[in-house]
Amino acid sequence: MSQAVLTRLRELLGEQGLLLPSEDLSRYEREWRGRYASRALAVARPADTRTLARLVAICAEHRLPMVPQGGNTGLVGGAVARGDRAELIVSLDRMRRLRRLDPDSASLTLEAGCTLKAATDAAAAAGFRLPLALASAGSATIGGVLATNAGGNETIRFGNARAMVLGLEAVFADGQVWNGLSALRKDNAGYNLAQLLVGSEGTLAIISAATLALRPLPRQVETAWLALLSPRAALALLRRVRATLGETLTAFELMPRQALEFVLDYLDSGQCPVDRQSPWHVLIECDSETAGEWLRPALVETLETALESAEVSDAVVAAGGMQRAEFWRLRESISDAQRVGGVSLKHDISLPTAAIPEFIETCLGELEALVPGIRPCVFGHLGDGNLHFNLTQPERLSAAAFRALEAEINERVFARVLAIGGSIAAEHGIGLLRRERLGESAQPAALEAMKRIKQSLDPLGLLNPGKVLRVD
Ligand SMILES: Cc1cc2nc3c(=O)[nH]c(=O)nc-3n(C[C@H](O)[C@H](O)[C@H](O)COP(=O)(O)OP(=O)(O)OC[C@H]3O[C@@H](n4cnc5c(N)ncnc54)[C@H](O)[C@@H]3O)c2cc1C
Repeated sequence: MSQAVLTRLRELLGEQGLLLPSEDLSRYEREWRGRYASRALAVARPADTRTLARLVAICAEHRLPMVPQGGNTGLVGGAVARGDRAELIVSLDRMRRLRRLDPDSASLTLEAGCTLKAATDAAAAAGFRLPLALASAGSATIGGVLATNAGGNETIRFGNARAMVLGLEAVFADGQVWNGLSALRKDNAGYNLAQLLVGSEGTLAIISAATLALRPLPRQVETAWLALLSPRAALALLRRVRATLGETLTAFELMPRQALEFVLDYLDSGQCPVDRQSPWHVLIECDSETAGEWLRPALVETLETALESAEVSDAVVAAGGMQRAEFWRLRESISDAQRVGGVSLKHDISLPTAAIPEFIETCLGELEALVPGIRPCVFGHLGDGNLHFNLTQPERLSAAAFRALEAEINERVFARVLAIGGSIAAEHGIGLLRRERLGESAQPAALEAMKRIKQSLDPLGLLNPGKVLRVD
């Protein structure tokens, strides 16, 4: 089977469009966290939607499973070819055309392989912003960002990726193309297929292009770094900032001292803007799309009252763009920097915001009793309730011994998350990593509906099989 299908794919795609294992496939097979070995039958790289559709039809004919892939920056093993069966990675990396920027409808239509950075740069060049901020923007693609419904730093104000979707173009499992590219803001004609595909992690269709809603570029931006005593103080500050600065609040990021320690050890250069011994830190960004000079004094006044009321022990407002970029560099280095501490067990969770301080206190108390010396590195988007509840191995415990505790630690974290109405997958998705847990924690009616949707759109089970849902 494999040779026959590869011959047909080679005819369709040409030299550049089909890479075989005899070539270097590491870029497509590398899994970001190194948790999964990925081995593909081959990598197909169609250059346009028509070729992609033809490719999918050939795979359907030969019953060859496909793994859609964008920038391969996903963190749950969703873009991995499992290696224990023949699977074709379908990379969108040659489909990078910006098709249309329409200022009147404030929309951008582009192919799925465009990186998020290319999309935000194109929008900015025309005076618009695509308000989706991820540290992986230079590699993550529009297709991947939509397939995972990515979140990021600005979700508190602008929502996740799905909030930006006006229309999609996609190829279904039998090779049919659906052209749903539209900049209409109102369209209630039938089920919303675009929103069904957003967040489906390549299991229902391959997204080939999208029309995204844009906003005006901000005309005032202010950023502050704050030192605090506790997550409880951070929550009080969040309430205060919301009350005084309203919808200008664009990011509210919580970080513990441990995260800063890792980052400062890891970076060649870098200085904590406030006392690095402070137990907790918050990065706030506010912006306004209207011109003026009122945002900075409003932020300063808010922070002064927070200092007076002892919610905050120190505060620095960025003097300009360079310092702002440095603040964000520190924040966005946390994930990588954790490597200096050894193995980290990571949990991308969502919680009701009001419950976060108590969750952190009680859950960490329990884990510290279970694994003395464990180094919690709990950081994230406090403003939208999404924490990266990451736990780094104790200095005196081997990596293997810490890994051996993973199942027990996960059990305790996720049990608490579910008990207070949180989610086991906030912004990274399910992929392979959280599949079994979804199976156990989703309501039976929801799980059944998901399986029926999968069965009806992909009856042969060829699109990213085994991701999100277990294949029996
Ligand atoms: C340093 C770093 C920071 C990150 N920060 C964030 C963050 O702040 N917020 C956040 O949400 N995520 C974050 N991520 C995770 C990741 O960047 C996002 O999930 C991103 O959306 C993945 O895009 P990608 O193009 O790399 O997709 P891939 O990794 O290639 O694929 C991810 C999933 O989408 C599917 N897929 C990819 N392209 C398509 C397509 N065209 N059609 C259908 N399915 C497709 C794949 O099959 C897979 O299931 C971060 C990752 C890293 C490494």
